[in-house]
Amino acid sequence: MFSKILIANRGEIACRVIKTAKRLGVKTVAVYSEADVEAMHVHMADEAYCIGPAAASDSYLRGEKILAVCEAAGAEAVHPGYGFLSENSAFAEACAAKGVVFIGPPVPAIVAMGSKSESKRIMEAAGVPLVPGYHGEDQDLAVLRGHADRIGYPVLVKASAGGGGKGMRVVESGDQFEAAVAGARREAKAAFGDDSLLIEKYLSRPRHVEMQVFGDTHGNVVHLYERDCSLQRRHQKVIEEAPAPALPDAVRARLHEAAVAAAKAVDYVGAGTVEFLYQDGEFYFIEMNTRLQVEHPVTEMVTGLDLVEWQLRVASGEPLPLRQEDIRTQGHAFEARLYAEDPQRDFLPATGTLTHLRPPAEEGGVRVDTGVRQGDAVSIHYDPMIAKLVVWDHDRSAALRKLKQALERYQVVGVATNTAFLTAVASHPAFEALELDTRFIERYRADLI
Ligand code: ADP
Repeated sequence: MFSKILIANRGEIACRVIKTAKRLGVKTVAVYSEADVEAMHVHMADEAYCIGPAAASDSYLRGEKILAVCEAAGAEAVHPGYGFLSENSAFAEACAAKGVVFIGPPVPAIVAMGSKSESKRIMEAAGVPLVPGYHGEDQDLAVLRGHADRIGYPVLVKASAGGGGKGMRVVESGDQFEAAVAGARREAKAAFGDDSLLIEKYLSRPRHVEMQVFGDTHGNVVHLYERDCSLQRRHQKVIEEAPAPALPDAVRARLHEAAVAAAKAVDYVGAGTVEFLYQDGEFYFIEMNTRLQVEHPVTEMVTGLDLVEWQLRVASGEPLPLRQEDIRTQGHAFEARLYAEDPQRDFLPATGTLTHLRPPAEEGGVRVDTGVRQGDAVSIHYDPMIAKLVVWDHDRSAALRKLKQALERYQVVGVATNTAFLTAVASHPAFEALELDTRFIERYRADLI
């Protein structure tokens, strides 16, 4: 095991990683921007170093500064968290060049899965089912249009390098195609410096079901079961749960097999997530994320495992702690993403000081992953997440009741939050009745906001 690691992140995920490192007796090094001098992750770590001004591009995204801190502090490995440099293959390479372990998958896996098109070509070859579509290299407008016409509208145009829903456009009919492609290309170029697109059939009411996978450097790959992240707003997750409810056993078994095949196809090492859409009894691969996901706690709650611990063990060269047959799930877990944002103003991110902040007690199956304390400011510089509220209980109904109670007990004063919106979603009879799909929030908008 490492004796000292650096956490190249901030907020709740930096705090989350530090917690596990402490438990394992691993020393921690935090990095922070000028806006985060007093941040919780800075206080929690054994050592902390300022790496630049508030803007992420001047601090948390500066790989060379982070590696200089590694050297100065004697950190043997870097945990990138999610976002920032977590899926940046150039940073992973720079770590290797400096003899620092990047706590993530090998560079070729990051590169291959960083392109949605390339990943689909690999998955197709591995026999993993895909959404009908086009993910070829020829990006000529007439060629793309030909494929869209063949697939049949509505189609979804996506940035191959995409993430966070950027560079994505639903196209209802052929006459909208050219404008949608132009818009998606512009957005993709600006966000990722790469404007290649792919096209998929736009599924009308899919569920988002994703698989947690883990590989080690000894050639072992296992899955840690699935999560359902269908509750989304603008293609971004709002409430997640594990296991995915109401899946036929045969589908679940095939999903598990497909995820392991997907990870094996890229010689995967570390924590990864294989994302699928599920509709009308069929599931289709959409992408693989080569990092720890925001929603990993629901998997931890139902498996009783610590995924950050697994990441550290695997990165230090140990084999996976458990064999597939020894990994089981029990009960049901939910995670709600609590944000400083105003649902009444189209979810505009809110800023300000958290003048009063009291999360529910972390006991009896309630867990709060946060990176802020009372008195902290929510600034414009970063993702305005306040906390991830995670609950576990013996079955879905009980866990859902617990989620509602915990949301009602969460006290935040000083900034607008989405707490009432999350409570309305969790309390909606259709959610309890398993009417799960990615259009849920859109459909019941009038009841929820
Ligand atoms: P990103 O990487 O930008 O988050 P994804 O490919 O992971 O994009 O898709 C994000 C979400 O968009 C999915 O969870 C789903 O809700 C929606 N989506 C993606 N592909 C399709 C599709 N072919 N049909 C319908 N919805 C889709």
